[in-house]
Amino acid sequence: MARLVLKFGGTSVGDIERIKNVAKKVKQEVDAGHEVAVVVSAMSGVTNQLVDYCRQISRVHDQAEYDAVVASGEQVTSGLLAIALQEIGIPARSWQGWQIPLIADETHGKSRIERIETTPLSENMSQGVVGVVAGFQGVTEKGRIATLGRGGSDTSAVALAAALGADRCDIYTDVDGVYTTDPRIVKAARKLHRVTYEEMLEMASLGAKVLQTRSVEMAMKHRVRVQVLSTFEEAPGSDLPGTLVVDEDEIVEQELVSGIAYSRDEAKITLVGVADQPGVAARIFGPLTDAAINVDMIVQNVSEDGTTTDMTFTVGKADLDRAVQVLEKSKTELNFRRLISDANVVKVSVIGVGMRSHAGVAQRMFKALADRGINIQVISTSEIKVSVLIAEEYTELALRSLHTAYGLDKA
Ligand code: ADP
Ligand code: ASP
Ligand code: MG
Repeated sequence: MARLVLKFGGTSVGDIERIKNVAKKVKQEVDAGHEVAVVVSAMSGVTNQLVDYCRQISRVHDQAEYDAVVASGEQVTSGLLAIALQEIGIPARSWQGWQIPLIADETHGKSRIERIETTPLSENMSQGVVGVVAGFQGVTEKGRIATLGRGGSDTSAVALAAALGADRCDIYTDVDGVYTTDPRIVKAARKLHRVTYEEMLEMASLGAKVLQTRSVEMAMKHRVRVQVLSTFEEAPGSDLPGTLVVDEDEIVEQELVSGIAYSRDEAKITLVGVADQPGVAARIFGPLTDAAINVDMIVQNVSEDGTTTDMTFTVGKADLDRAVQVLEKSKTELNFRRLISDANVVKVSVIGVGMRSHAGVAQRMFKALADRGINIQVISTSEIKVSVLIAEEYTELALRSLHTAYGLDKA
């Protein structure tokens, strides 16, 4: 008997028929003798709708109330799945974040899990009751609902698997594994049977939505065995139907580049005419940090006259309005001439641990993009990735060209 955490994403619980289908999958694991906790997302489209409601009232709204609104999607699916399970004879009980409780910090909208009290849930599960947990949500020490950032149900699932000491965490979604790049955009993408924690972490943080970044961090830290697999396709007779996230030494042959990710969640801000003097970066980024806005790529242009320069950086698209508001408020103090913002950008990244020992990976990327006439706006690199910011309209062209340039297309 194993203890399993199964997570079902938005498309997997997208309508009533699909919720019944999920119940059947859960039943299979229960019938096989396993002790099961299920984590569910909101029905597909629901969270987007709820986010939009908040924005319709105010583009810059109270994040704690945003959480009160958006957490409701998961409450609905957890109750519905519990009913669907009971209906086919499987004892089940829904659990909201506050009922577990899953304690999350005060950073509303992208709160981090602090700890999970597993005793009540665990006792219930050992009595043969399937725990159906509302993903994406927790409760703060002050008793307010908090959500874990978009895609956060993955993190709920991995954190729960770690806390429950589960043997495996299965992430059921609408693709049958992790691919070399988004299979919905590049038809030639190949499925990876195994991917290292490190590469998965980079791929996720650079935009591969299939797993939320924090879920991979959590899996890596607590050595949770994570498998990504399809809700809709059975892989009969296969002992590895999806993709397993593993340690580096479990991978026999390592490619130079293992994946290409993209993120449309970035927006670019340029401050024109900031003073070119010590301390200016600290002055600009200080207020953004205070507002919990993460800055990602940064370039500071060479100063033409030695007194002023332009500073370009990216923030999350969801934070753009707030970032502009914060910066405009400090305009006199920061002493810049003009602020230009651009949300029509995409960050494209190539990732691979093989980069550590091979030169020329970045060059191949720049050349492939240049051959297609795609202009690079910002570049950033780390040990195992190279990222570029380009105009959003070139996303598909860039992904396909790079996929071919690194020899990743399936035969
Ligand atoms: P869920 O609702 O199940 O959490 P998501 O939409 O969050 O599902 O994540 C699954 C989606 O991730 C896929 O439909 C696919 O379009 C996208 N995706 C992006 N990059 C990759 C990749 N490298 N491998 C697999 N899927 C990817
Ligand atoms: N429903 C949330 C979202 O759409 C959380 C999740 O699906 O993981 O972001
Ligand atoms: Mg997701």
